[in-house]
Amino acid sequence: MSEIKLLLHTCCAPCLIGTLSRLPKTYEPIIYFYNPNIHPKEEYIRRRDEAKKFCGDKGLAFIEGEYDVEKWFEAIKNVKNYATEPEGGKRCEECFRIRLERTAIKAVSMKIKFFTTTLTLGENKNAQVINKLGKSIGEKYNLFFLQADFKKRNGYNKSVEESKKLGIYRQTYCGCVYSMRTNEWADIEKSYENEKLK
Ligand code: SF4
Repeated sequence: MSEIKLLLHTCCAPCLIGTLSRLPKTYEPIIYFYNPNIHPKEEYIRRRDEAKKFCGDKGLAFIEGEYDVEKWFEAIKNVKNYATEPEGGKRCEECFRIRLERTAIKAVSMKIKFFTTTLTLGENKNAQVINKLGKSIGEKYNLFFLQADFKKRNGYNKSVEESKKLGIYRQTYCGCVYSMRTNEWADIEKSYENEKLK
């Protein structure tokens, strides 16, 4: 059976590993790293380089999108209470939309009819929300969005195991400055609780 080219939006190497373990072999993935949400830039470079190296080792085509942080912030600021929205809320929905739409535009420019994303592999990522967005963006650009929940059927576990085995960096926060703060707050709260227990 001939392979179908698929533009695979990729957020990081660990999620890519898990997704590839679940992707049907009928697809030939072309990796598209478009993540202007990642803050700060050093972290962006670190995640990009890990994904790029992994692709190089596996012989996968890797394309880097623009790191257009200003445009990302402009769009995110239209979401009510964007800075305090919990992970998985409206801010994330907009963040998914930005990245999926850009992937669709890239697919059109490359004459690739199929696209999808590694985002559903994330433990806290709602596949239903992502699939619904992907489907409607696909319809807008006359493309086919491959709907999936890559975390399921061992996808997430595979991502953790393989990343550890290969010594691949796994981040401790989702990506944007707000998710970074959520983690910081969680740490601060934890140390405060520990203080109280002393
Ligand atoms: S928490 Fe993650 S998905 Fe949500 S807005 Fe931030 S980077 Fe995007």
